[in-house]
Amino acid sequence: MYRALVEHDPAFEGIFFVGVTSTGIFCSPTCRVKTPKRENVEFFPDPNAALHAGYRPCRRCRPLDRGHSAPPLLAELLAAVDEDPSNRWRDSDLSRRGIDPSTARRTFKRYCGMTFHAYHRARRMGLALAGVRQGKSMLDLQLDHGFESGSEFRTAFNRHVGAAPSRASAVDCLYARWFETPLGAMLALADDHGLALLEFVDRRGLERELEVLQRRLKRRILPGTHRFLTQIGEELAAYFAGRNLVFATPLALAGSPFQHAVWNALQAIPPGTTRSYADIAATVGRPSAVRAVGRANGDNRLCLIVPCHRVIGADGTLTGYGGGLWRKQWLLDHERAHAGSRGQLALEVPPRANESVLAAAS
Ligand SMILES: [Zn+2]
Repeated sequence: MYRALVEHDPAFEGIFFVGVTSTGIFCSPTCRVKTPKRENVEFFPDPNAALHAGYRPCRRCRPLDRGHSAPPLLAELLAAVDEDPSNRWRDSDLSRRGIDPSTARRTFKRYCGMTFHAYHRARRMGLALAGVRQGKSMLDLQLDHGFESGSEFRTAFNRHVGAAPSRASAVDCLYARWFETPLGAMLALADDHGLALLEFVDRRGLERELEVLQRRLKRRILPGTHRFLTQIGEELAAYFAGRNLVFATPLALAGSPFQHAVWNALQAIPPGTTRSYADIAATVGRPSAVRAVGRANGDNRLCLIVPCHRVIGADGTLTGYGGGLWRKQWLLDHERAHAGSRGQLALEVPPRANESVLAAAS
């Protein structure tokens, strides 16, 4: 790998990433900055591993910007599953499409963090659960979604839901989707109530946050699609392109009345501007509750949309950010550059219709 790094070998683009211990920055192997000494580098299989190890992405080679390096195979596999989710997608089906099954497994695992078959199983179960809610019979669902026997369906169902299929009419789930952004992958969760979570996937404590959310909302999380996930995907693309900094996807915020008040105050901060914790505390009518405002800010699960990144220290320092300070800086720079006339539309955003729906569940 070091040889590939010295030679800027393009064959290794996307295969490994290199962290430079002396600068705390990680790069792709073809980065044109001066090649670091061997004793100052460590190698990672993917950008998330480098992020977890505490490195920030290089501004020059932008190792997180996978737009150019995401393998077409991944899109092909995801499209294949969506085209016919109930097909069982055995290795032979992949081979027939000219896809090498072991390459497919490796690629999928690297980019999605789970195997293709695990994704596909979860996707089929998600569809079956949607059928459960519409009151379809268990036998129909088992047959419709390609489960070969009643016991296989029951086992898969229990793994996801923890209840026997016969008691499943109350089962509800949150659909999960990944989005690639210039700042790294984001995970979004939504159901009919609205968008429940949007976070960078390397955020510290994300696993715990997901567990808490599953328990609190009494919902299982499954990969899938939902109209609100489609909508937020389009809005994220527009946001990162600087075309529109305002989000309109309905939100399902679960929190205490105080948290809601803080999150509403955050949403009223126009893009391209910042506020201090004390400003927000005053806005919610609790001028002495600066620390509690800080905590509610940190408890925000809707990154970017509830713009906790627009809150900075009274002295102008960035203070903290769950997604990493370099992201906070990037977002503020990006919003200042693109706010202009379009960003000010934030002032005209209508109140969110679904905000209080889940408040009772918390
Ligand atoms: Zn670089």
